[in-house]
Amino acid sequence: MAGKTDKTAVPSPITSKTAQRASFHDFTSDMVLHSPLWEFWYAADGALKVVSNACETCCGYEAEHFYRNPRFMEAIIVEEHLSLWNGVWCKLHNGEHYACAEFQIRLPDSKKRWMKFEANRAVDSQGCHCGIRAFCHDVTAHHNVVQQLTHFTWHDSLTKLPNRSKCLERIEQAIERATKCSRWNFSILYMDIDRFKNINDSLGHTAGDAILCKLADRLQAVTYGIDTVFRIGGDEFVLLCEDTTGHESVHRFIDTLIHSIKRPILWNNKQIHMSASFGIMHADPEVNTAERYLQNAHIALNHGRSNGTDGVAVYDSHIFSKALKLISMELDLHSALINEEFFLEYQPVVNTHNRSITGFEALVRWKNRQGAIISPGKFIPLAEETGLILELGEWVLREACATLAAWRNENPLFKNLKVNVNLSARQLSDLELTDTVSRILKETELPPQCLRLEVTETMLMENPDYADITLRRLRSLGVELCIDDFGTGYSSLMYLQQFPISTLKIDRSFVKDMEKNPANYEIVKAVIALAHALGLTVVAEGVEEEEQRIMLLEAGCDYSQGYLFSRPIAPVELPVVVHTMQHPEQQAWQTG
Ligand code: C2E
Ligand code: MG
Ligand code: MG
Repeated sequence: MAGKTDKTAVPSPITSKTAQRASFHDFTSDMVLHSPLWEFWYAADGALKVVSNACETCCGYEAEHFYRNPRFMEAIIVEEHLSLWNGVWCKLHNGEHYACAEFQIRLPDSKKRWMKFEANRAVDSQGCHCGIRAFCHDVTAHHNVVQQLTHFTWHDSLTKLPNRSKCLERIEQAIERATKCSRWNFSILYMDIDRFKNINDSLGHTAGDAILCKLADRLQAVTYGIDTVFRIGGDEFVLLCEDTTGHESVHRFIDTLIHSIKRPILWNNKQIHMSASFGIMHADPEVNTAERYLQNAHIALNHGRSNGTDGVAVYDSHIFSKALKLISMELDLHSALINEEFFLEYQPVVNTHNRSITGFEALVRWKNRQGAIISPGKFIPLAEETGLILELGEWVLREACATLAAWRNENPLFKNLKVNVNLSARQLSDLELTDTVSRILKETELPPQCLRLEVTETMLMENPDYADITLRRLRSLGVELCIDDFGTGYSSLMYLQQFPISTLKIDRSFVKDMEKNPANYEIVKAVIALAHALGLTVVAEGVEEEEQRIMLLEAGCDYSQGYLFSRPIAPVELPVVVHTMQHPEQQAWQTG
């Protein structure tokens, strides 16, 4: 058997040439046996001549196995990699000087290891092919690292779901399939968890992560492995539904998803209720990039959730042009601040009993470059979303405080009046809010008790602990606080009582048809009674009819605001209005 030479038979340097050659051959064979590497020597005809003893360390089989069965290597290579092995031999037989392949072999204990096989064609001094010398290295560790890196490249580390890159790849494949086969249908569902930020803010990021994992599991369970779920960002998931049986089936599938998401999640003995919104982009031959599919599904998602939570919308050209309009409005909004296109109007707040003015609410308006007046309902949410609200909110605050301070200096009728300024959710969660308010009061020299800040219940409920701290800081400046639009959120008055507020504004939706809808009137009466019991002053919003004022008066409502008394007016009109409203008995005018 080749290679079984005596270790002591080291050739003498002074033997004859033939003997020298023979001994040298023995010597080299002997040396290769003890190579620390797994080495093979093959004769020119491919017969295995030598295999190093290191093979046992590398693959667990003694060299004997290879001598006894020249095709032993093929027997231990995993079946699906046999072609790689054969490929190497093909190349060598075709005269290539070097060939290599990486494949898995099965060890005696059935475990698999990755090997790299490298072979060189050897030629003698005459240039004739005289054999093949090859090495086999264990490259399992390297493969594992590569595999892990590949996993990280394609998967999200938190939920272990495939990530955005994988998602784009899979959409590309779906597009390709649909191009080849017109019957191949697919849809992209872009899902975003509603108000997920609240979870992170109120329960912490650990809870947020755990809830995301739970939801990822649920999504996977619902898809039964047929469709693919990807996590492509914080609380954003994409589902790729392939080979669908029509749009109806996609909607039914979304119903199942919604049902699964809405099942309460238990976290620290608390039941957490989640919901999600969806944007759908069905296969469209006009759209040919994965990025575009995702983008359109995202546009549909934003459209679907424009009314808050639980939105579902399918992308179409109408949605697209609306999104374009929003984008251009967002750009305009940025320049509007620089170009001073915003201005304030003031709406009086009056005593329900005698209509005398007690203050006014500052309401922002935007006059764009085309001269159109845009109402805050249209641009405040956008400013909020883009973060521009912080700058705009500060401007409103300064402008309102400066206006009242100026009138107070000029006109004694303004001495006891207050100005109400609306705050947005972003402002309330801004760490600098109290400092900003304090600075503006100092700059404008407006006494703090002349300023009343309005916040909504929803803003307080988003992060109650933080809101409480901020409101207490603001209160310590001497500023008054007021709950706006009461009744539109889902909080109870008893709960709101914990915040340092002094005034409650009943939303105009309750006041609106009080006279026709007895249930609304009952609610208004109950809210007023409870608010008074809790020591709060009540303002009714949106009072348009004298009949409403009488009813509110009978219910004990302290103050009112609405078109019945005055529409929001320009600051230059304030002195006349204030004058008239301080002496309501002389009130000659009535707006409406
Ligand atoms: P809000 O704070 O509840 O303001 C009252 C809204 O009701 C104003 O609408 C006002 O014009 C309207 N209104 C007053 N009386 C009546 C009435 O009798 N009938 C009817 N139908 N409406 C009446 P506006 O000015 O369009 O403002 C809408 C909302 O935009 C405000 O609701 C407030 O939430 C927000 N907003 C306005 N200005 C600002 C601001 O400077 N900052 C922030 N963050 N939000 C603002
Ligand atoms: Mg308000
Ligand atoms: Mg309001």
